[in-house]
Amino acid sequence: MQKSFEVENRLGYRILRWILAVALISGVIVSAIQVVLDAQHVSANLNNQARQTIAMVKDSATQAVFSIDEDLANQVVDGLFAREEILLAQILHTNGDPLSSRERPKAESAFNSLINTIFDARRQFNTELTRNDNSGTVYGHFVVHYDTVPAAHMWLSRASITFTSVVATAVILGMVLYFVFYVLLTRPLLRIVHSVMQVNPEHPDDRLVTTPTGHEKDELGLWVSATNTLLIAIGDSQKRHREAEDKVNRLARYDQLTGLLSRDSFMELLKADLEESKRNNTLLSVIVCGIDDFKSINDQCGFRTGDVTLQTVADRLISILGGSRFTIARLGGDQFVIVEKGLKDGFQAADTAEAILAGVNETIGLDGQSVSMTATLGIALYPSDAIQPDRLLQSAEQTMMLAKQKGRDHFQFYVASIDQEIRDRKQLEKDLSEALSLNQLHLVYQPQVNLETKRIIGAEALIRWDHPIRGLVPPDYFIPVAENNGSIVEIGQWVLEQACLQAKQWADKELPLRIAVNLSAVQLRQDRIVEDILDTLKRHDIPAGRLELEVTETSFMTNLADAVAKLHTLNRAGISIAVDDFGTGYSSLTYLKKMPVQHLKIDKQFIRDLLVNEEDTRITNTIIDLGRSLNLTVVAEGVETAEQEYYLTQRGCKLAQGYFFSRPLRPADFEAFVQEFHQKAVENNA
Ligand code: C2E
Ligand code: CA
Ligand code: CA
Repeated sequence: MQKSFEVENRLGYRILRWILAVALISGVIVSAIQVVLDAQHVSANLNNQARQTIAMVKDSATQAVFSIDEDLANQVVDGLFAREEILLAQILHTNGDPLSSRERPKAESAFNSLINTIFDARRQFNTELTRNDNSGTVYGHFVVHYDTVPAAHMWLSRASITFTSVVATAVILGMVLYFVFYVLLTRPLLRIVHSVMQVNPEHPDDRLVTTPTGHEKDELGLWVSATNTLLIAIGDSQKRHREAEDKVNRLARYDQLTGLLSRDSFMELLKADLEESKRNNTLLSVIVCGIDDFKSINDQCGFRTGDVTLQTVADRLISILGGSRFTIARLGGDQFVIVEKGLKDGFQAADTAEAILAGVNETIGLDGQSVSMTATLGIALYPSDAIQPDRLLQSAEQTMMLAKQKGRDHFQFYVASIDQEIRDRKQLEKDLSEALSLNQLHLVYQPQVNLETKRIIGAEALIRWDHPIRGLVPPDYFIPVAENNGSIVEIGQWVLEQACLQAKQWADKELPLRIAVNLSAVQLRQDRIVEDILDTLKRHDIPAGRLELEVTETSFMTNLADAVAKLHTLNRAGISIAVDDFGTGYSSLTYLKKMPVQHLKIDKQFIRDLLVNEEDTRITNTIIDLGRSLNLTVVAEGVETAEQEYYLTQRGCKLAQGYFFSRPLRPADFEAFVQEFHQKAVENNA
């Protein structure tokens, strides 16, 4: 924007200069002509006056020279000298002798040289003195010199007035015109320029150009209103352009049929989601969903039904997968894509896939006919399968195509091994959900021995799953699955029931053992867990002191205050609490002091290499010392050799459990083992 511009660039100023120049030049020319004419006039006047004067006195001069009357001659000459412009007056005889002569010095003038060139320094008149008798006799001469200065001075002052007035007129005219021009044109034009500069090029019709007051009806007003009409037209066309652009954008961003994101905008979002996953160090799944045999729906029921089917699938996907973790888009045709971010593992993706399959599977009622359909899904995972968005989508699409060749209504993961693993685990989950009702679960009991008295004081209840095909499935494998899908709550309750039932039976058989039951972190998080446990004890009429709960340090992690409160309630009721796998987790003293804990279980990984590995020995010693100083009973788990048992006994560890004494046993075997073990102890003592 031009803030101020040079005065000499203003139109008014340029006009002023032109007018001044033209007025001055033309004024000077006109006045020069005037002055020259005046000069001619003055010159002629001088001669006329002189001749008239000479004519007036010529007769007297003739008389004087004729009668040689010196007095008369002097009178004539003196009379002439009354006029100041007369420089010299002489009446001469014919021989040139003066009868009367008088002279005065020439008047001084600063403009002598100018005057001399124009008018001559003096005008000299020489008249022959004759009488009117037609004889032609010359009696003498009459000489008169006129000074040109007085007349020239008058001429000069007139000339200077002429010039001054011409210049003054030119200047005044120029100024007046400049001012008028400024008021009429420059100022309103500057206002218009200012107003034009305020116009927003993005929205030119938001703020139009204002007409300077008083110019509404003149050319400026016309110009402004023409400009405004143009601005409005430009604004209109911009608006239409923007609307068209928006529409094109919308068309490009969203799929017209389903309202889901289109492929291009989906790719942008996927890129952002991948960056987020990278930052948060989480997994992400891309699930490509293809409707099975969509072509035949189109062929049999018509395109309209096909369209409605796709819309229905889109609506179902939205309702099943609500929430910001999911992105849903239509890739085109009968293919959709779903991105789920913030995953912990691939199994979560399998859960989502199952939910999608179930959602698509529901029949659609359409104009009286019901259409049933299925879908096939291909799943690719970030970062294991690919890290670039296009590669990831491509992998999922390929997997979906491959999966379609194998059948319909199922999902498949990109990597075969992962696919197998997840498929296995999904199968396991399914089998586990039926294991309880099919009576495939049972408990085994591992004796806990008092190392001082060598008596069995209790047993840890451990779950076993007899799978009809897989055989015995280790709890290390299926407990995490149960924890993950929440079924551990039901299974845990069943374990507690069984353990209580067993404790009651053994108590009835004069075998009052304390039963240790493993309590999962997921169980401890349940709101009703405390009531459930106390209620179970009561139902089986078991004193609370007969039950021990084994919890791991991870159970405290998520909500320490809640875990502490629950364990306190259980503990106050008489149930003892053991920290399982102690030494493998955080083993924080702060936790330990807050916890209502009675037992520390040294994890079997430290006992295994006891006396072989220095560090494991040191950790075991530390835990035993810690237990002593905090007044907690230390239990060594996984004792397999006599050396380990001897060392632990010497070191002051109170209780032990492990294959050295016994593997976990079925109840009947356990009873037999106890009898035999105590029998041996009695014999050894004897
Ligand atoms: P855990 O609580 O640490 O149980 C001890 C594990 O060590 C048991 O494995 C037991 O059989 C094994 N063991 C005992 N003595 C020895 C030994 O001398 N040497 C060796 N190498 N191992 C020994 P198991 O029964 O396979 O249980 C594995 C894990 O499964 C348990 O570890 C526990 O965390 C979980 N678990 C088992 N039953 C239940 C249950 O009813 N509820 C819950 N929540 N978890 C359970
Ligand atoms: Ca345990
Ligand atoms: Ca353990």
